[in-house]
Amino acid sequence: MLKENHYQKVASLLKNNASADEISKIVNDIRLDLNPHPAGQLEKNVPQIDGVKLTGIQHKYKETMLFFPKNGQTCHAYCTFCFRWPQFTNLDVYKFAMRESELMIQYLRLHPEITDILFTGGDPMVMRTKNIANYIDAIIDADLPHVQNIRIGTKSLAYWPYRFTKDKDADDLLRLLEKANKSGKQVALMAHFNHPNELDTAEVEKAIARIRATGTQIRTQSPLLRHINDDPKVWQAMWNKQVKLGCIPYYMFMVRDTGAQHYFSIPLYEAWNIFRQAYRSVSGIARTVRGPSMSASPGKVQILGVSAINGEKVFVLRFLQGRNPEWVHLPFFAKFDKKASWLDDLKPAFGQENFFYEKKYPKVDHTLKEMIYTKEFYN
Ligand SMILES: *Cc1c(COP(=O)(O)O)cnc(C)c1O
Ligand code: SF4
Repeated sequence: MLKENHYQKVASLLKNNASADEISKIVNDIRLDLNPHPAGQLEKNVPQIDGVKLTGIQHKYKETMLFFPKNGQTCHAYCTFCFRWPQFTNLDVYKFAMRESELMIQYLRLHPEITDILFTGGDPMVMRTKNIANYIDAIIDADLPHVQNIRIGTKSLAYWPYRFTKDKDADDLLRLLEKANKSGKQVALMAHFNHPNELDTAEVEKAIARIRATGTQIRTQSPLLRHINDDPKVWQAMWNKQVKLGCIPYYMFMVRDTGAQHYFSIPLYEAWNIFRQAYRSVSGIARTVRGPSMSASPGKVQILGVSAINGEKVFVLRFLQGRNPEWVHLPFFAKFDKKASWLDDLKPAFGQENFFYEKKYPKVDHTLKEMIYTKEFYN
């Protein structure tokens, strides 16, 4: 999955019996070449309280705060297409992580616009139930009526369904989910499945049934991956199977511009074709899914389709999420480009210089003194 020049560098080191130190130095250089922090996740989305950077929080879209629990920053899987891969190397001194649930609560109190908290990682489900309970209980006890949804992003259903069936604290975990739902919050498991085969075991079916019995919703998402699921039939089967098991298809993502993107990525045009062929072959119940979507620096951009306007062939796009909430759901146009595979590859249509959102790209400063979603922010 490495590019040829990177591969040759490592191969020649190995052939010449290079020392571990030499190898690790070159490997780290290669990692830095692979755009370890796409969409400016490091600089742009980290809020502060009184000058203290809350490195465990990302708040990019108004309604939803991402939370990176300190002990949830590893993963059951180490997917070679992971966009959080730098966290699993020794490259990153800086990791999204923070232990203090108090700071999280303080931040939520100061941001009544937040309806959703999304626990992410790594995979928060690598944590023991008692650690997860620390955070969930803190949210329940804090009495924050504006926080309606507790979401947990996880690969565990596909990779370690025993987390919900046989692990020693599996039953405690289910009771915790049930308690959170009964407290009036809606818990949603944002489950990562790449292929229908991951839904084929008796264990995953059992795990899904147990989770649903707690009142928790399961919403599913996956990137579109060359060599893995670049076929509409695979998506059709996957969405149908998910619906059959009571899950709600949610997102199809484009492979992000990091790591081995060159190996896994699929051009936007082909991705749109795969999406629409799968989408049109499932019933409306499964058409809750949205995509294909690029999680880029300005927001989540969906490829709605290809069209021609005044003789010019264009991509029709829209923001599903925007750094500026006013951008959401406005159709916009890019020159058609059969090879483009990411937002950065696209040029505005109709000879325009900028996309509409580029002119007023806001400088985001998530300090509490300077609240972010102010009038100035929009103008
Ligand atoms: C995807 C994402 C979210 C969640 O967006 P939804 O559309 O509400 O699922 C929140 N924050 C960031 C930074 C994201 O990339
Ligand atoms: S499951 Fe998600 S976080 Fe874990 S390695 Fe795969 S892509 Fe990365």
